Amino acid sequence: MTRDYGHYINGTWVPSESGRWFETTSPTTGEVLARFPQGTRGDVQRAVDAAEAAFPAWKRLPPPRRGEILLRAAQIMRQRKDELGALVTTEMGKVIAEGKGDVQESIDFLEYIAGEGRRLFGETTPSELPSKFCMTVRQPIGVVGCITPWNFPMAIPMWKVGAALISGNTIVFKPASLTPLCVATLVEVFEEAGLPPGVWNFVTGGGSTVGMEIVEHPRVKAVSFTGGVPAGKVIYEAAARLLKPVEVELGGKNPQIVLDDANLELALDGILFGAFGTAGQRCTATSRLILHEAVYDQFLAMLLARTKALVIGDPLDPRTDVGPVVDQAAGESIMEYIAIGKGEATLLTGGERLTGDLYERGFFIQPTIFATEHGTRISKEEIFGPVLSVIKVRNYDEAIRIANDIEYGLSSSIYTRDVNLAFRAIDDLETGITYINAPTIGAEVHLPFGGVKNTGNGGREAGTSAIDEFTEIKTVFVDYSNRLQKAQIVDER
Ligand code: NAD
Repeated sequence: MTRDYGHYINGTWVPSESGRWFETTSPTTGEVLARFPQGTRGDVQRAVDAAEAAFPAWKRLPPPRRGEILLRAAQIMRQRKDELGALVTTEMGKVIAEGKGDVQESIDFLEYIAGEGRRLFGETTPSELPSKFCMTVRQPIGVVGCITPWNFPMAIPMWKVGAALISGNTIVFKPASLTPLCVATLVEVFEEAGLPPGVWNFVTGGGSTVGMEIVEHPRVKAVSFTGGVPAGKVIYEAAARLLKPVEVELGGKNPQIVLDDANLELALDGILFGAFGTAGQRCTATSRLILHEAVYDQFLAMLLARTKALVIGDPLDPRTDVGPVVDQAAGESIMEYIAIGKGEATLLTGGERLTGDLYERGFFIQPTIFATEHGTRISKEEIFGPVLSVIKVRNYDEAIRIANDIEYGLSSSIYTRDVNLAFRAIDDLETGITYINAPTIGAEVHLPFGGVKNTGNGGREAGTSAIDEFTEIKTVFVDYSNRLQKAQIVDER
């Protein structure tokens, strides 16, 4: 029997006023894993009330004490890592090593951000006037909204929740409807870790209802969103009308450049992991291989051989390299792009949905590689599946021009042994993240993460910048001169 969850509001699992439910299922087997309420705008309003009521006490709790709760949650997750990793794999479909990686990233981030409870640094600086002291302090924003996608069903929620909580905010949270069970399990972990009721509220349901109410509710003071460009635009526009701060972290079309002096074996390991890890369903997935003409034939031959040998199958089996894509709709969209690719480019390998046996119950797509000119749709649009476009270039300058001629700017990578070109690429590549001699994927939690251009609106999650999104900066002047001093209006000058 599967469990029926509720919304988690004020520390209790409660039903939706809608009385309606949706199921979360395994993308591998189709098995129903749990049921969640189809939330309403009214449900969100109740969650906001709870978050608002919990805010004053949570704000007053010294940040190092908040950090202790995050550390306890990390500890529980560490003890349960294998089980949680298997849950990520079961509900989302990434292979088990990556499922555990999703959990490890969550643990790493909680441990990192818990320490922020003893920093939350402000500035001190001299005053232009005598006997006056100036500083900045960070304050929580209040009730914040978090909306997350399905592809990192634990790590992305933890990036947002950890940073919001350590900063002293309370939360109304909506998970992706494909992976609510992963987040509901984390809600229980935080309850066990001692998080007070009302501090993290969890409401499930649709983007245009639950999600939009979180964005539009006047007492939700800021919103953190990760997802695709279409939803990101809708949310950014709605928030703009309310002058509400919103951080949107969106898609990518990330290039790996391989120059003629590259270590080809290394570049090969990188492209296989970058393009086909998580079945290509990462915002940082390598979807473009920009390949120098001098190594084009040799590298492609190496790449095709290794790609054809990838094992596609049950993601819980540690021998599997590529699992299913997340659901039928995602699979159909990827197959549409593959059909477009067949019309405008040359299919080198893959291109089919697998059928029979295990493949009947999930949507499994062969790792697919096209040779294409730059400018085709498959070379420019985010496909979010195991589809790689290979583009031949004559030299470094052409590689950079093509890498940058794209609406997105999340991650990029270049393989070269020429240190000068490596450093030039750091200057030249228009992305928020650049890897030298490593694939486009592989974020580390203590470094900022985010992109330029249509990948977002300029914020960065994780790292030292994680708390910027969730804190207000207050500037404080303390005048101990015992007289009225007027900045800028000083007679003696
Ligand atoms: P999505 O945009 O469809 O959904 C993301 C979340 O937003 C879900 O919870 C969804 O229910 C909600 N939502 C949808 N419409 C909404 C609306 N109008 N108002 C409020 N909420 C709404 O994205 P997805 O399919 O879950 O995830 C895949 C996308 O996420 C890809 O484009 C990928 O590149 C991107 N992504 C980006 C990053 C990053 O950090 N830049 C990380 C992971 C994924």
